Amino acid sequence: MKILVTGGAGFIGSAVCRQLIEDTDHEVVNLDKLTYAANLRSLDPIASDARYSFVQGDIADRAFVEDVFRRHRPDAVMHLAAESHVDRSISDPSAFVRTNVLGTAVLLEAATAHRDQLPSSERDAFRFLHISTDEVYGSLGPEGKFTETTPYDPSSPYSASKAGADHLVSAWFRTFGLPTLMTNCSNNYGPYHFPEKLIPLMILNALEYRSLPVYGDGSNIRDWLYVEDHARALIAVLEGGRPGGKYNVGGNAEATNLSVVETICDLVDRHAGANGGSSRRELIRFVTDRPGHDHRYAIDASLIESELGWRPRETFVTGLEQTVRWYLDRRDWWEPLRQGVYSGERLGLRQVK
Ligand code: NAD
Repeated sequence: MKILVTGGAGFIGSAVCRQLIEDTDHEVVNLDKLTYAANLRSLDPIASDARYSFVQGDIADRAFVEDVFRRHRPDAVMHLAAESHVDRSISDPSAFVRTNVLGTAVLLEAATAHRDQLPSSERDAFRFLHISTDEVYGSLGPEGKFTETTPYDPSSPYSASKAGADHLVSAWFRTFGLPTLMTNCSNNYGPYHFPEKLIPLMILNALEYRSLPVYGDGSNIRDWLYVEDHARALIAVLEGGRPGGKYNVGGNAEATNLSVVETICDLVDRHAGANGGSSRRELIRFVTDRPGHDHRYAIDASLIESELGWRPRETFVTGLEQTVRWYLDRRDWWEPLRQGVYSGERLGLRQVK
């Protein structure tokens, strides 16, 4: 298959591109606008492969997207391009509506027109996989998990824009017969993660003995999935999912934000050495909670497990250890990002030791 991957220069998209080239025979066309969150260096391992190509552009630019479909004639789309950072969606919501809602609509229209022109065997095989988040379901109480039929109840401009995109995808399946697939996944972590997100930010701040800002009292609970496990799930859904199907993807690894940060402190102490015997846990600072901060997310992933045989390979313990070691080894990847356009204060980089 020739697969058009949108957002392939981002955290999860680059893992998908690497896996598609390294572990399958598929061809990849990576379409990415190269926003601040993109990093082409994450694609270094596959950049020279003949089955991989890159095209820079905006998914909300209709003429550009139509031209990409005309020139590349993909057999499938894996749509990951998005504005993805919740805090940024609070300071600049309209960018999220433009890319996540309008951009998804443009892609759906272009994919439908492209598919309509294919010979019938190729038309039947065409797939459009939309990658979404568990945040569309809102917040859970202490019990229960999100299933595929949990009603949508998004809290942030980010999750609301992703919910809008999800509804468009469902509508394109029902109204236009586009063979869509959708996944809603919990929080990802792992190598090549932009250091504004919780886990890489805490690893790097801990390494540099900077403050470790934790929202509220740190009791918010997230389910965590290693990014390579997510990429495998997405390929499994693309290759074997039911058209119109929706699959929750999770790591069965619930943890409070505070316990995540404490574990990171312990891992960085162990692998990078502790300063004079004092634990990096002392760097933790509680800061004013994010407005609309959902309390708990938890995923019931039994559908993708039973239908497609997917299961995560990493536990949170093994995945987090690999992630910490990766950041210790790959200063060349993250140091330019830390020194770039991001103000230290904004990212919580204040030096405290
Ligand atoms: P990311 O922010 O790391 O990467 C997003 C990529 O999309 C970047 O390379 C960026 O340049 C590109 N992009 C942004 N706007 C674009 C536009 N208008 N046109 C073309 N490209 C554009 O995001 P991520 O963490 O890799 O997430 C990928 C997808 O997975 C998103 O749709 C996100 O909602 C979803 N998701 C993420 C998580 C998570 O924990 N990170 C969990 C579940 C679902």
